[in-house]
Amino acid sequence: MAVPHTAARLAHNYDPLPVTITTALGSWVTDSTGREHLDFLAGYSALNFGHRHPALVEAATAQLDRVTLTSRAFGHDLLEPFADALCSLVADSLKLDGTTPMMVPMNTGAEAVETAIKAARKWGHRHGIAEPTIIVAAGNFHGRTTTIVSFSTDAEARDGYGPYTPGFRIVPFGDAQAVADAIDETTVAVLMEPIQGEAGVVVPPPGFWASLRTLCDDAGILLIADEIQSGLGRTGTTLACDLWNVRPDLVTLGKALGGGIVPVSAVVGRADVLDVFTPGTHGSTFGGNPLACAVGLAVVDLLATGEVQERARVLGDHFQTRLDDLVTDELVAEVRGAALWAGIDLQPGQGSGRDLCRALLDAGVLAKDTHGATIRLAPPLTIDAGDLDLGLDRLRSVLEER
Ligand code: PLP
Repeated sequence: MAVPHTAARLAHNYDPLPVTITTALGSWVTDSTGREHLDFLAGYSALNFGHRHPALVEAATAQLDRVTLTSRAFGHDLLEPFADALCSLVADSLKLDGTTPMMVPMNTGAEAVETAIKAARKWGHRHGIAEPTIIVAAGNFHGRTTTIVSFSTDAEARDGYGPYTPGFRIVPFGDAQAVADAIDETTVAVLMEPIQGEAGVVVPPPGFWASLRTLCDDAGILLIADEIQSGLGRTGTTLACDLWNVRPDLVTLGKALGGGIVPVSAVVGRADVLDVFTPGTHGSTFGGNPLACAVGLAVVDLLATGEVQERARVLGDHFQTRLDDLVTDELVAEVRGAALWAGIDLQPGQGSGRDLCRALLDAGVLAKDTHGATIRLAPPLTIDAGDLDLGLDRLRSVLEER
């Protein structure tokens, strides 16, 4: 006899839209009533290649038949190939000054950010800085650990979790002068998202990241780009920083690196920074496990030719143009974004972002609100051009009917 399920045993740290997904393929999901929906959130970019991409499923299932976990106490045959492939993929996007890159494999995005923070701090200690500080941006989102929420400016994410980790200085996002003013002899790094995802896909002013690079070079400190949401094709380039030809010293990657199948994250960058980690000083039981590496390798393969990025760029131009057409006094106040990634601020008459996402759900489109009257769209990079238009048509109808 079927036992009715209940949400009572689930902690209340999420408030999902009322849909129960049972199967998914490509850009489409099917719910428990058999209804199909277009996925215009793509797991916050974790599903850049859509649901159950055949090459990724094949890599995962083949690996399930071989070996899935060894722990780092022993070696396995995919860890070094994955490290080589990932480093090669992003090498041209990093400031390496002729050195070869290095990577640290982890699982979740927050772990990658924590790893980058630890590396920067230890690198600072090596250079004689006893109390290293890191400059971060207001409105940031880098994950949910105690240290990371310590430098969040979002009360919901931060309040009640003190005591907080010290060592961070918060400046307005996009304000290069504020960064310059915040740098002092204790500063070891600037850590920011190239484009702030959770904040509502906030794109910084032109020249901001180039200024960050110059400021960090002048001060001899590290520029760390958190590309967990923005990286791996989402903005039509391998990294969002490629949009501005800015090369960070370290980059954090996650989400799409696991192909929507397993959590895979990494920090990639300068070997003279990441070699602060010596045996026993950092690690993770699951980090770099064989299954993660098999999927990660297949993800890198998909990105290696640049075709996915090119597709995201071409479809993204169309996507942004059609979204810009929604900017009217009744519908949408502002659209921000890059390629297949957009934040949309609704006009006051449209109600909350959550209300709109409810209405979109009824129209068969999955999207996510953030901060009041903003919604985020991030369809899979592999979406059919026709499906992209279908989702946009539905969005327009929902907005016009309200
Ligand atoms: N960094 C950025 C820029 C993110 O967008 C996120 C998640 O949304 C994270 C870090 C945290 O990733 P995770 O949820 O895998 O810990």
